[in-house]
Amino acid sequence: MKVGFIGLGLMGSAMSANLLKGGHSVCGFDIAKPALDALVANGGTVAASPAEAAADAEIVFTMLPLSSHVESTVMGPNGVAQAMKPGTLFVDCSTILPEVSLKIGKYLKERGIHMLDCGVGRTSVYAVAGKLLFMVGGDAADLETARPCLECMGDTIVHCGPAGSGIGMKLVNNYMSVTLNVLTAEALLLCERMHIDRETAIGILMGTPAGKGHLTTSYPQKAFKGDLTAAFGLGMANKDLGLAFEMANSLKVPLFTGAGARQAYSVARAQGRDRQDWTAIYPALQQMAALADDK
Ligand code: NAD
Repeated sequence: MKVGFIGLGLMGSAMSANLLKGGHSVCGFDIAKPALDALVANGGTVAASPAEAAADAEIVFTMLPLSSHVESTVMGPNGVAQAMKPGTLFVDCSTILPEVSLKIGKYLKERGIHMLDCGVGRTSVYAVAGKLLFMVGGDAADLETARPCLECMGDTIVHCGPAGSGIGMKLVNNYMSVTLNVLTAEALLLCERMHIDRETAIGILMGTPAGKGHLTTSYPQKAFKGDLTAAFGLGMANKDLGLAFEMANSLKVPLFTGAGARQAYSVARAQGRDRQDWTAIYPALQQMAALADDK
């Protein structure tokens, strides 16, 4: 395919190189000259603006840092929307706000241009190897148009649902793993201050929902079934959280994520869920969100 590619940094340079290896032609744009030189060295051509990179393209990719960069690259002066032909496809792989992505999609649709939001999982090491994960939002037919290109750059392509859901899924994934990173550090520090051998601790934690995660253990056993009879009571979990705080206090270990969790348990208990299963945290938060909807 004839590809336009804007944003040739850590990720975009490797992704465009793999498109070229896959037999596609790539015309790229970036504000940094070294990024353009690398594209030429890989067999691509360069443009003087996003519009110029998009002019001949059947499909245009962006891999830019921020929401504002994608917005101006599409809708600004010399933006791709000025040059793309009706019926062609725009694919944004940048990590940006879903609401900005939807706004861009609406703007393009008014001009007959299709759009996919395409959250990218995994790092630039995987981009170089052509083994990225793509979380795609938009029409299934548009995904089929993009698939030959995506298959050059990644080995896992998942259609998440309508427009916005691909980048939304990416943000949810990163929220969970980025937060878990802090929780992991807190747990390891507690072990360290208690003089517990790290390998021993990891062995224990990997055998429980702490390390396995709730998605494959407690949630399918209880909350996903709508069965909130206690396998482990929410009130008992709250008691253990309190004990961990007392222990951490004497060890001078800060528990940032635990502090947030305590609030969630307080809400669930205030809803009368003390004797329900600990996975009742999920319906407790659903109940809170629904209250906010009513306002
Ligand atoms: P990067 O900083 O290495 O590259 C960004 C490129 O965009 C640079 O070459 C820069 O010169 C160019 N650029 C900036 N503003 C521009 C503009 N207005 N017009 C044209 N070019 C412009 O960043 P990256 O690591 O490649 O990340 C790009 C996006 O991918 C980000 O949204 C990031 O969150 C996301 N992402 C990164 C990774 C990763 O592991 N690096 C993984 C998944 C998703």
